[in-house]
Amino acid sequence: MVVYRERSDGSPGCSVPCVMCRRELLRFRIPVVCRTPEETWFTGQLDELGAPVSKPTVCQKANARVNASRDARRKEALGTR
Ligand SMILES: [Zn+2]
Repeated sequence: MVVYRERSDGSPGCSVPCVMCRRELLRFRIPVVCRTPEETWFTGQLDELGAPVSKPTVCQKANARVNASRDARRKEALGTR
């Protein structure tokens, strides 16, 4: 699968799949072609040596924060019983 992202100036931007996409791509063993933060192209499986590191998206980070605070509240509520 080729993942391509273009910046507003038309140059290719980093297109490393996010953590969720990475999980699914690996589950189905789909090889990837993507642009790395070092501005090189990576070709291969995302779990092979030299594969770029996936990051969570802004939305995924926000959801993780919401879930973490919800879990902390639940834990606190259970602890005071
Ligand atoms: Zn994604």
